[in-house]
Amino acid sequence: MALLGDMPKNQRAYFVEENRNGVSDIKSVKIICSRCGKTVDGLQSKYGTGGFYRVSEGHWAKYANLGEIEVCDSCMWADPRYKADYQWNDSGGPSVTLTVW
Ligand SMILES: [Zn+2]
Repeated sequence: MALLGDMPKNQRAYFVEENRNGVSDIKSVKIICSRCGKTVDGLQSKYGTGGFYRVSEGHWAKYANLGEIEVCDSCMWADPRYKADYQWNDSGGPSVTLTVW
């Protein structure tokens, strides 16, 4: 999937792993970030998302502002609430990128 090339390595690894286990129903999706309004090419499977976070429900809802549905990686990683909860690695990304809802 061409999209994978644009994703951070650790996220890519997760989806590749999911594929290999044959449990994947990964789809390419285009979402509009509720926070910055940018269009984001993302991935989605029943286990999680790549490139964005679904914040309308579930685990990630605690980082959402009122009315937000989907938030892109950049916005989420810049969120002080998110930063406070997740450790950041040397490359400036979060050490946990598995976005399961
Ligand atoms: Zn955004």
